[in-house]
Amino acid sequence: MQIRIGNGYDVHALQEGLPMWLGGVKIPSSTGFVAHSDGDVAIHALCDALLGCLALGDIGHLFPDTSPEWKGADSKVLLSKVVALIHEKGYKVGNADITIALQRPKLSPYIEQMRETLAPILGVEKDAVSVKATTTERLGFVGREEGCEVWASAIVLK
Ligand code: MG
Repeated sequence: MQIRIGNGYDVHALQEGLPMWLGGVKIPSSTGFVAHSDGDVAIHALCDALLGCLALGDIGHLFPDTSPEWKGADSKVLLSKVVALIHEKGYKVGNADITIALQRPKLSPYIEQMRETLAPILGVEKDAVSVKATTTERLGFVGREEGCEVWASAIVLK
């Protein structure tokens, strides 16, 4: 069996009045993410982790933010396209682990829904998708509520 690992990282700025999508779930919030797509920073980091597994480049390369095709794009669609690329290479997703740093709102009520949303897109059971959330104790740009930072790891195998 061949096992490949990848990591991904993304940041989006927060702005009043924009929608907040995280892990494929719409989060009730007065602020949301500035982005060309729907701004789902968690899915973007996850896409980069998956692409990194097979050295397939990055999400900005595959879905350029200069392209009208991806304006307002549902990041779940981007993720499904990345998973299709993994499958084309003969691999399947093993598991994924996502850490979201956001000061506000508290994400704990939405974690299970994120896992349930992402698992079928990845083609794995829910127990192979971990989503964790933390604040940064009011430190840095996350703590000042200027943005959200996400790290993701993934394994693919064949
Ligand atoms: Mg992004």
